[in-house]
Amino acid sequence: MSELRALYQEVILDHYRSPRNFGPMPDATSKAEGYNPLCGDRVTVYVRLDGDEVAQVGFEGSGCAISTASASLMTEIVRGKTLEDAEEIRERFHSLLTSGDECPDCEGLGKLEVLSGVRDYPVRIKCATLAWHALHAALAEEPEPVSTE
Ligand code: ZN
Repeated sequence: MSELRALYQEVILDHYRSPRNFGPMPDATSKAEGYNPLCGDRVTVYVRLDGDEVAQVGFEGSGCAISTASASLMTEIVRGKTLEDAEEIRERFHSLLTSGDECPDCEGLGKLEVLSGVRDYPVRIKCATLAWHALHAALAEEPEPVSTE
């Protein structure tokens, strides 16, 4: 395992053990649930919108290290962004997980890059994208639960 991989692994485990912005959000303006039946990951993503700004974002649920770390990192990176920027980050994150090493879209994703190794494990991609699907539903204010299947 390269040093970079080891560092990435450490960040993922840290977010898994101490997820950020975890717990119910009573003042959320929207929420959406996600379920990944392949792995059993469940997540509820909460957002509080202020105009077109994502003023706060949080989540709760239970899942594997990848799904929890991805949700935790998501809350940190999306908070304070506009709806448009949040959607753009979501799309670029998806490219990061599905493209090869050449991914010009993936520049500047910051800490989300720790999840880039997931691309070597296609089954885990759904773990990594679950919270983001739920975020998309919450931002679109679609009340339907989302499933990765
Ligand atoms: Zn999972």
